[in-house]
Amino acid sequence: MSGRIPPAFIDELLRRTDLVELIHARLPLKRVGSNYQALCPFHQEKSPSFSVTPDKQLYHCFGCGASGTAITFLMEYENLGFLEAIEELAQRVGLETPTGGTPAAQEQQPLYTVLEQAASYFQQWLQHHPQAAPATHYLQQRGLHESIIQEYRLGYVPPGWDNLKRVMVSSPTPTAAQSLVAAGLLIEKEVGGHSYDRFRERIIFPIRDLRGRVIGFGGRVMGDEKPKYLNSPETPLFHKGKELYGLYEARQAQRRLESILVVEGYMDVIALAQHGLRNCVATLGTATTSDHLERLFRLVREITFCFDGDHAGREAAWKALQTALPQMQDGRDIRFLFLPEGEDPDSFLRKQGRAALEQQLANAIPLSRFLFQRLEQACDPSTPEGQAKLAKSAQPLLARLPQGVYRELLQRQLTQQVGTVVTIPSGPPAPARPAPRPPLRPRQQATAEGRLTLLPQRAIRCLLQHPDAAHQPDLAEEWRNLEEPGITLLAQLLDLIRNHPGINTAGVLTLWGERDPHHATTLQALVTQELPLPPEALAAEFRDALQRMEERSHKLERDRILEEQIQKWGRERGKREPPHYQVGDEPPPIDER
Ligand SMILES: [Zn+2]
Repeated sequence: MSGRIPPAFIDELLRRTDLVELIHARLPLKRVGSNYQALCPFHQEKSPSFSVTPDKQLYHCFGCGASGTAITFLMEYENLGFLEAIEELAQRVGLETPTGGTPAAQEQQPLYTVLEQAASYFQQWLQHHPQAAPATHYLQQRGLHESIIQEYRLGYVPPGWDNLKRVMVSSPTPTAAQSLVAAGLLIEKEVGGHSYDRFRERIIFPIRDLRGRVIGFGGRVMGDEKPKYLNSPETPLFHKGKELYGLYEARQAQRRLESILVVEGYMDVIALAQHGLRNCVATLGTATTSDHLERLFRLVREITFCFDGDHAGREAAWKALQTALPQMQDGRDIRFLFLPEGEDPDSFLRKQGRAALEQQLANAIPLSRFLFQRLEQACDPSTPEGQAKLAKSAQPLLARLPQGVYRELLQRQLTQQVGTVVTIPSGPPAPARPAPRPPLRPRQQATAEGRLTLLPQRAIRCLLQHPDAAHQPDLAEEWRNLEEPGITLLAQLLDLIRNHPGINTAGVLTLWGERDPHHATTLQALVTQELPLPPEALAAEFRDALQRMEERSHKLERDRILEEQIQKWGRERGKREPPHYQVGDEPPPIDER
């Protein structure tokens, strides 16, 4: 960060931004009275509880509690950082960000421009170049419609060493060859500094980030030449181990993704889209990384990996499973789909059609089953020796699961299979930011009610007295789902202060008074009950309150998931052989605070 954004600038920015317009461009809003409504983009729902109030320039979801300003909306919806969101808004309303943007952003802008121009040339060449016939023929053969070709912005580069270099370096606004090299479009020879096109005689697949900006390309040959696929090299914008092909397009097609299918090739993603399966992404010629999984689990709770059923495919799946273990927090679901040997989704679809693929998808096996199947293959669980071997090989794998119900259930399953209790060394604590989840409704609220409602109130008082407490690093965030008095107010207050770095108590009250006169009185009242503590103690107190509320929220969710799992697995019990766990087991007693 090259400097703080002055609060006055942020106010000006929010004042000039029309939140309704900003949101409406992304999801259709419906006018209801003086407000606007939509299906919430931050949680799954059937009837709209997401509301935008133009007077206050705030949005709020009554389902999941998401709320905030244009800045928080962009941060959440477009996965932007605070400064990025500010820059985006500033650009929209024609203001210059006081710090001139982050240094990284300044360096990156020319690369985005160059990549976008290149993508346009590639698209034009696919449509109009006299040598494009083999490419259009290839795409037609694959059964792709023009609309899909347009949507994924497919392109073509004719044969030759300098098609792109020529048009871009000698255009009316010439691009320096250096930018083209930095963007990965030209390759520079080590001797002599001569450069030439990286992509030649290939079908081009632009790779876009979550905001739709082109950050790199994949190129595929039309015949049997090698290499079949060629990707952009690592650049400041493009990191193979993090990006997923098709994620932007999947989100565009379906804002509230429920699950994601991960396949291996670009053509698979496009073939699946052509058949109406719009939730598919591909890794970029690399194995699945934990960065990939993290990114996907921010959007959905259910991921299915699709692999060829041959030996290589099974090995790749086993690798993906091991990468996924540490991220298997409660409520997340990973499944594996193995296609018949030698098939990829593209070829499978062309031979057997969508219904057959959907049948396969429905039969994808859960991570736990794949895990135990694989381990059992390597030993004979009907003998004590085999059971000991099974326990030994399972232990280190289960140890990689985060603490939680899922881990307990798998441990129980292992215990059942080897007939004796197997202890698992403790694994990593559950990471701080799990996937979006439905709101929590406390089931056993009565006994703890009195104490709990004090926590949000105490947090609010600390925050009002010492607004800077909001900027501490690594504050707990997962208390927002709690449905308890004061939570919404606290969340809004915290977001407000975070959007106005440097604001003081008076500033908070003024801003709040303008936006929410009703709660302003409550806040005023709380300010007068000053806590006799120095700022450091207020900050610590605030942190502690959030932490305790988060723990409460986690516990409620654990209870809910355990209940769900036991019911669901109970229903499936009859289908399986033999049951690996005791369905009648009671969930562990709830430890009320
Ligand atoms: Zn919501």
